[in-house]
Amino acid sequence: MGSKNLRAVAVRGTGKLEFAEPDRIRAIGKEVAELIPESPMARNFKQYGTPVFVMPLNDSGILPTRNFLSGQFEGAQKISAEAMNSTILQGNKGCYSCAVHCKRVVKVEGKYATDPQFGGPEYETLASLGSLCGIDNLEAIAHGNELCNRYGLDTISTGVCIAFAMECTERGILTQKDTDGVDLRFGNADGMIQMIHKIARREGFGEILADGVREAARRIGKESEQYGLHIKGQELPMHDPRGKKGLVLSYATSPTGADHIEAPHDTSFMAETPMLYAANPAGVLEPLPATELGARKIRLFVHAQQIWNSFNSLGICNFAAAPYSAFTLPLIAEALKAATGWNTSLYEIMELGERTITMARMFNLREGFSARDDELPERLFLPLEEGTPREKRISKEDFAEALRLYYGAMGWDPETGVPTQGRLAFLGLEWIQA
Ligand code: SF4
Repeated sequence: MGSKNLRAVAVRGTGKLEFAEPDRIRAIGKEVAELIPESPMARNFKQYGTPVFVMPLNDSGILPTRNFLSGQFEGAQKISAEAMNSTILQGNKGCYSCAVHCKRVVKVEGKYATDPQFGGPEYETLASLGSLCGIDNLEAIAHGNELCNRYGLDTISTGVCIAFAMECTERGILTQKDTDGVDLRFGNADGMIQMIHKIARREGFGEILADGVREAARRIGKESEQYGLHIKGQELPMHDPRGKKGLVLSYATSPTGADHIEAPHDTSFMAETPMLYAANPAGVLEPLPATELGARKIRLFVHAQQIWNSFNSLGICNFAAAPYSAFTLPLIAEALKAATGWNTSLYEIMELGERTITMARMFNLREGFSARDDELPERLFLPLEEGTPREKRISKEDFAEALRLYYGAMGWDPETGVPTQGRLAFLGLEWIQA
C-alpha cells in the first residue's frame, strides 16, 4: 500500500443487514454477552488487552528479545500489561458492538506525547518496538505505536526492520555513518523513533528499510541476510516457535508468510484448560506440550488452523470467539444458520476453513511458490541462548518431518506440498488450476 501512496481503504455501508432469523440472532448475541464475564480470557482481554501476554511469554523464555537472540527480556516488567495499567492507561474500548473491549487507550505527555485516539500498543507492538529492539521505555513504545498508526506502517514489520538494523550495528556491519548518524544500538528508544519517521518518509537509511527486511538485507549485503528474519518476505511476528512448536507450521506454510494468526497457539492447549474444552467440538481433544512436534501436534494444528481460517471468511474476531473467548463454536454454527437460513453445521464450517487454506495454497502455487518456500530462518534452528533446554530447540529433521506429515494430513503431496486432485475434488475445488 505504501508504494501506491495508499494509507487505507475505508468502506461505510448505509444499508441494513437482513437476517433469516432476526430473533434468533438477537438471542445468540445476548447469550454471548452473558458468556463474556464467565470467560477467563475474555475477562483478561477486557482488563489487560493483548499486553497480558508479555509476562507469561517472558517467564516461559520465549519473549522475542534483541532480534530473536534471546527469549527473556530484563525490561519485560516495564513494558507489561500491569505496567501499562498503572501508568499510561486511560481506559479501554472495543470494536463496534463487541463487549470484550480489548483495545487499550493510553495517554502520554512530554517527550513521547501520545494521543489517546490512536490507541495503546498491543502485545505485538510492545514486543516488536520493545523487547525485540531491547527497549524498555513504555512511553516511547506508545509513541512509536502512534507514529506507525499515523503513517500506516505495520508495527511488527517496522520493529523487525529496526531490530535487524540494530543487530547489524552491534555486529559492525552498519556504522552510524550508514544510518544517517542515528545510533541504532539495541535499547536506544530515540533511535527507534527516528527510524520510524525515516522509514515512513523513505528518507536516507529509512529508504533501505522501507521495503522490508529481506530487501534491506539484500541491499546491505555483508552476510546480513542471516539477521533479517522473515518467511516469504514477511517479517517474523512476536512469538517464538522454539517454545510453541505448532507455530513452525503456521509460519512456514501460511500463504502470506510468517503469520501468528494462522492457528491458535500451542500454549492454549497444554493442559485441561477452558481453551482446550472450547476447542473440543472441533476435534482438539487432548492436552499436548507446547514443545511437542509429532503426529499428535500435527492433528491438533490442522483442526486449530481450520477454526481460525474459517473465522477469516465468517468475519469473526479471534479474541471474541472460541477457543480464546466467549463465542463458542456450536453457537457460531447456530449464528451462521440464523443469519443465512442455511441448514449448516460446525462440520461445514471446519471444511470452509480447509477450503480457504487449500485455495490460498493453489493461488501461491500458480504464482510460482513451492514447498521450497515453506521454510524457517536459520536463526530459529539455533538455541535461544546458551543453556536452552533441548525441548526448546527445533531440529531440521523434526521440521522436515512435521511438514511432510502436515502436507499429508491436508491431502497434499507429502513431498511437493501440492494439493492432490482427490482432495481438491472433495473440497469442490477441482476447477482450480495451479
Ligand atoms: S472485536 Fe476483537 S479486537 Fe475488537 S474489541 Fe472485540 S475482542 Fe477486541
